[in-house]
Amino acid sequence: MTDASSLTLFNSLTRQLEPFQPVHEGEARVYSCGPTVYNYPHIGNMRAYVFADILGRTLSHKGYKLTHVINITDVGHLTDDADAGEDKMEKMAKAQSQSIWDIAAHYTQAYWADIKALNIRQPAKWSIATDYVPQMIEFAEKIAPNHCYELESGLYFDVSTVSDYGRLARAVTDEGEGRIEAVEGKRNAADFAIWRKTPAGEKRQMEWDSPWGRGAPGWHLECSVMSGDLLGFPFDIHTGGIDHREIHHPNEIAQNQAFCCAPEEACGLDVPANSGAKVWMHNNFLVERSGKMSKSSGEFLRLQLLIDKGYHPLGYRMMCLQAHYRSELEFSWEGLAAALVRLKRMIIVVERLGDVEAGDAGHPKLAPMLETFEKAIGDDLNTAVALTALEDVLAAKKVDASAKRAVVERMDAVLGLDLFGTRRADLRLRPKAAEITEAEIEDVLARRKAARAEKDFATSDALRDELAAKGVEAMDGDPLGWEWKLG
Ligand code: AMP
Ligand code: ZN
Repeated sequence: MTDASSLTLFNSLTRQLEPFQPVHEGEARVYSCGPTVYNYPHIGNMRAYVFADILGRTLSHKGYKLTHVINITDVGHLTDDADAGEDKMEKMAKAQSQSIWDIAAHYTQAYWADIKALNIRQPAKWSIATDYVPQMIEFAEKIAPNHCYELESGLYFDVSTVSDYGRLARAVTDEGEGRIEAVEGKRNAADFAIWRKTPAGEKRQMEWDSPWGRGAPGWHLECSVMSGDLLGFPFDIHTGGIDHREIHHPNEIAQNQAFCCAPEEACGLDVPANSGAKVWMHNNFLVERSGKMSKSSGEFLRLQLLIDKGYHPLGYRMMCLQAHYRSELEFSWEGLAAALVRLKRMIIVVERLGDVEAGDAGHPKLAPMLETFEKAIGDDLNTAVALTALEDVLAAKKVDASAKRAVVERMDAVLGLDLFGTRRADLRLRPKAAEITEAEIEDVLARRKAARAEKDFATSDALRDELAAKGVEAMDGDPLGWEWKLG
């Protein structure tokens, strides 16, 4: 028997699977790096939040009181993750001739719409970076004397002042981050900006006064400050996409060490809690066949594009769950269609259960499936195996509907496929480009049914052709009970 509460997670810091041991008895505090709201999120970005959601749901399911924070970065993130390039927000605002605040508001709303569409639970708090600037200045003042130095362009963090810099990335610190553009006077290539001064004679849309002059905080500083402020150092788990394992999170860790630890000798990362969070977790990328997913090249894969093409967003959630979060996942339209059919099949069975009340989940026939499920989800969030356990429950014979419902509800509380809140008909979205509405289709189908009842096959065939001409295929005798689909 596995202990239903057991949970093992992969810690990127140690590169090992570790049993989850909360900092505070019975609690789990989780911080997830949120989006930079200068553009719409692509579905790759959303994979990071589906992953964080599964983590949060699993922690709740295993009995921990969850506090989850996701931030919204509305200042400070440069076009290169390190210290080069322009501020992403400033750049977009200029390109669209709008204020940064309007840009941020628009794309934050768009992101939240995707969160909702993917049935991602609301975190305890959305922390907005620009709300924390005074706290960022305070944090920087505390670490500056021992860990920072000032240049004309800003206040920089000296990475040689903390032990084990870059361990998370397994980076060669001598070479720093290769990609960082040289900033005149930097002591180490990997040193990064804590505060970016506004160059003399320039004015930024977003700038604040600080002991180092007018300017804006560095991106890495934001996450250290918001996570520490809202969750308290050390907290349990920090998440992000795998790109953050290379620059953003090593820099956050260095800041956290500087902030939390004294004397410095005792601050090494052999004690994971010195990094500010005990566990650092990273989801792998969603990729396109052609390579990296990007907002600028080719078809911009936003969730809305999937919807416009007639794919229900929960089909994309299913697609994410079919892969392990630490594996790369290649996006394809065929893969998405297959994931949607899988979801459809589940929902059809759930609909057949009818409106029975959930009964006792302890049915002996379902116990082994529930155990497989618990074990899988507790084993570093193995959603792929958990899904098969769910399907086994749905397919189980001679089990009363109330017991089935109880077990399926329990499983779906973790997987979040909204099996009870979604009807089969909801999954059928009309592509934006379609020339015919559902009502028109239903009307033709009803007339066709009547014609067939009268054995008027000529009319029936003519009506089928009428639909076909508008791109609608009538699906007689479809095993899933679909009456039509769009070609
Ligand atoms: P950003 O808005 O660029 O800060 O990214 C938001 C989140 O998405 C971060 O956690 C990134 O690490 C993550 N991310 C970016 N691209 C991808 C991708 N293709 N697949 C999965 N996660 C990604
Ligand atoms: Zn972050």
